[in-house]
Amino acid sequence: MRDQTGRDIDYIRISITDRCNLRCVYCMPQEGMHSLSQEEILSYDEIVYVCILMAQMGLKKIKVTGGEPLVRRDNDVLIGKLKQIPGIEKVTLTTNGVLLKEQMGRLAAAGVDAVNISLDTLDRKQYEEVTRRDQLSQVLEGIQEALAYPQIPLKINCVPIMTEEENLTALAGLAKTAPVHVRFIEMMPIGYGRKFPFCSEEQIRAVLERVYGPMTPYEKKLGNGPSHYYSLEGFAGKIGFVSSISHKFCEQCNRVRLTAEGFLKTCLQYDTGHDLRSLLRSGADSQKLKAVIQDAILHKPASHHFLEEVLDTEEEQRAMSQIGG
Ligand code: SAM
Ligand code: SF4
Repeated sequence: MRDQTGRDIDYIRISITDRCNLRCVYCMPQEGMHSLSQEEILSYDEIVYVCILMAQMGLKKIKVTGGEPLVRRDNDVLIGKLKQIPGIEKVTLTTNGVLLKEQMGRLAAAGVDAVNISLDTLDRKQYEEVTRRDQLSQVLEGIQEALAYPQIPLKINCVPIMTEEENLTALAGLAKTAPVHVRFIEMMPIGYGRKFPFCSEEQIRAVLERVYGPMTPYEKKLGNGPSHYYSLEGFAGKIGFVSSISHKFCEQCNRVRLTAEGFLKTCLQYDTGHDLRSLLRSGADSQKLKAVIQDAILHKPASHHFLEEVLDTEEEQRAMSQIGG
């Protein structure tokens, strides 16, 4: 699947629910978030069907996300089905980790290829401030459980909102003793994230180098995305950065997104794409669906313009929990 700028699209992030058991301040409001009904979200069969068609068109990698994907029942059954689609090489998951302890065994049995856990602080009070829930200990147990499956690569993703030195170094320190990669993801001005200042890769690296010593660029690719990594002496894992603002990587973008209600979204910043749910439910045949998917991908925006003025009417109005990150 090629877009008009020549980029090959082989990766999709699928939000399987817009619901979440946390309320991160940069992602969801404290109260009053309208949740989609069961009928409004794509069924697992619909998701699998879209992926079968897209795999025939060149899709290779799938990330299951949310909201919080582990709050939707039988997520492991979906992962197992996605894994069986010819052409699909990797099915991975991103989770807040709260329910991971009890679900990791089933996810591993279903064949999940990698797990990302989002965690912005190791301090219980700060965690409650960011997520509006007191669940840090459950997440830490989830991480321990995931580490019991060394064949499944584990990454910790941190949006640096608690930017004190102790917090950043404590999070990075997780990669010192355990074979996990810790990645810092720049806050994007989307949804509730617009309200928060962003902390750049350079700022974080300066803090980490002061405490842990020089960071050496690591040339190999780890995972599907646009992150880049550094090695630190004595660390079991790497430190990564996803710097969509300070180191824009749109030229290498290989992804599209499918929202929980079935909108094929071709750029994080813009509301461009196509509603696949109405096509699926109106009985469109596979040729029609493929043509619409190809057309949406062809018109994928060339890049985001987060640092420029964009008309409100063009900009994405969904919250990040509805997009899947
Ligand atoms: N609930 C799951 C989780 O937290 O991993 C999956 C969905 S969540 C929307 C996916 C990722 O998006 C999380 O790592 C979260 O930190 C990130 N995210 C949410 N809002 C963001 C923003 N404004 N800028 C950057 N990342 C954001
Ligand atoms: Fe939930 Fe993930 Fe959004 Fe936090 S970032 S509110 S865990 S969907």
